[in-house]
Amino acid sequence: MTVSQSSIAEESTRLTNPTIPTRGYAAVTAKAPLAPFSFERRQPREHDVLIDIQYCGICHSDIHQARDEWGDAIFPMVPGHEIVGTVKGVGSKVTKFKVGDRAAIGCFVDSCRTCPECCSGLEQYCAVRTSWTYNGREKDDTPTYGGYSERIVVDENYVLRIPENLALDASAPLLCAGITLYSPLKHWHAGPGKKVAIVGLGGLGHMGVKLAHALGAEVTVLSQSLRKQADGKRLGADHFYATSDPETFTKLERSFDLILNTVSAQMDLGQYLNLLRVDGAMVMVGLPEKDNPVPAGALVMGRRSLAGSANGGIRETQEMLDFCGKHKIVSDIEVIPIQQVNEAYERVLKSDVRYRFVIDMASLNK
Ligand code: NAP
Ligand code: ZN
Ligand code: ZN
Repeated sequence: MTVSQSSIAEESTRLTNPTIPTRGYAAVTAKAPLAPFSFERRQPREHDVLIDIQYCGICHSDIHQARDEWGDAIFPMVPGHEIVGTVKGVGSKVTKFKVGDRAAIGCFVDSCRTCPECCSGLEQYCAVRTSWTYNGREKDDTPTYGGYSERIVVDENYVLRIPENLALDASAPLLCAGITLYSPLKHWHAGPGKKVAIVGLGGLGHMGVKLAHALGAEVTVLSQSLRKQADGKRLGADHFYATSDPETFTKLERSFDLILNTVSAQMDLGQYLNLLRVDGAMVMVGLPEKDNPVPAGALVMGRRSLAGSANGGIRETQEMLDFCGKHKIVSDIEVIPIQQVNEAYERVLKSDVRYRFVIDMASLNK
């Protein structure tokens, strides 16, 4: 078949069946538990890849958004942005993927592609609009639906590759938790000779420990208690402290070059800023419902920086996945059927997850 014939065939399929019925789980309102939900995906366009989703991680951001804690929720909402699966179909002009390939989607599915940020591989900061994987909008304003579903259709330029040596289920959390920690670790030059603290040993935090360790930094975990200490050491931490012990904050004063703060709740930032050396930086990746007051004194007295960072661009996400392949890094996961998603949310809220829930999407057929 020639290109134009195949385009005509594609076009006629699209006209007779313009969308693909898709099953998933959604929050219908901010107060509702997630429940089975049917919706439509578009047919693959010329540059689109159709992915059968096998696993999707549960990120704390899914909970914040499904409960409208950030104030920008679009309902019904199918959460999920740690998506891995297999390519089931490709548009006529797709060159990067073929049917049968492993494929992955992270936090966004499109962006303007022409602004300075998009052109430099920082699509998550697109000046026009980043199309978030769910609770977002495509270029044509269609709402996006995420990975708690059986399939997804995404432009090939926003699809990632999972190294063949990594287990697919345990790789899913790399797509958000992994890149969200990798990007600031690289940007703030974590590596040999650098002392890095990770605050909060949850989904993001445990990836931060693994990645900072693999980059050669000296890693300290600051957790609410010592109950995850053995895990922290196994994951690669050199030191582990409980933030419930006030002595931690005197003992570690002026210790760190970099603190990555993954805490999902409001907290006293000043205490943590005092743990930075002169010129050190604390990077917020946690996005609590309520803002934290910024204590100017702790910044001024030490020329310290307080910064933030959002996931990572496509190029850097692929770099992170390849780094994980080389270092055999995946997430520590608990695989659940989708019917247990609401219980899993409650356990995440209690910091009772070791260390990421991953939904086995085959359970949609149960
Ligand atoms: P998570 O698995 O729930 O981990 C958060 C950890 O923070 C908990 O395990 C706990 O660690 C600690 N924590 C929770 N409540 C706390 C409190 N009241 N005081 C002190 N520490 C507390 O969540 P996650 O999926 O890693 O996400 C963490 C945050 O990052 C969320 O706000 C999420 O929305 C945000 N996020 C941001 C980005 C981004 O691009 N910037 C990407 C993904 C997620 P311990 O038990 O060790 O104390
Ligand atoms: Zn996330
Ligand atoms: Zn852009």
